[in-house]
Amino acid sequence: MQLLLAEDEQKTAGYLTKGLREDGHAVDAVANGADALALALHQAFDAIILDVMLPGMDGWEVLRRLRAAGCATPVLFLTARDHVEDRVRGLDLGANDYLIKPFAFAELLARLRNLARLPKGMADGGILMAGGLEIDTLRHHAARAGHTLQLTAKEYALLLLLARNKGRVLSRTIIAEAIWGMFHEQQSNAVDALVRRLRAKLDTPFETALLRTIRGTGYVLEA
Ligand code: CA
Repeated sequence: MQLLLAEDEQKTAGYLTKGLREDGHAVDAVANGADALALALHQAFDAIILDVMLPGMDGWEVLRRLRAAGCATPVLFLTARDHVEDRVRGLDLGANDYLIKPFAFAELLARLRNLARLPKGMADGGILMAGGLEIDTLRHHAARAGHTLQLTAKEYALLLLLARNKGRVLSRTIIAEAIWGMFHEQQSNAVDALVRRLRAKLDTPFETALLRTIRGTGYVLEA
């Protein structure tokens, strides 16, 4: 893969660059947001690894400007922040995935492989369509068949996660990690409860169910 790495911490940048090259990737490394934006807009990358906290223009602003300019390159956010609001904000702005620091290098490689498998046009300037469902990720707005869904931040985060992975079954572990940042056994119930709340708003008033339970496996949004 042709990768752009934007990370200002020299040690981390050096370590990541070395590891990614050893794994066979071509890496361009930059240490600030303005350079990341300029390079991403003028060169084709398979994926961008974007640190949130960058000097000058932060990762959020880089991502916002990239998407506003129509750049659909998959973006993997690196964040030290462990609040759902920050993750939701990143996903809202069109990030495809995120990793919370510190992370294992093997995890980064796995996420990059996932990003490479994403269908083209997933990050299409903010509008995500799935089975009569329309999610405007820039305006944080979701509607089904023209009816606005009144969702809480976590319900919205779950819907966005499912929509970005439509047709793919997501396990409770994957969902818990995406929404809360980590997985504990007791969160299995929290995931089920969150799914129930989302389903009540997403599917109950309509003829067909979009959110399906795959017994013993997880949940899927019908493509
Ligand atoms: Ca940083």
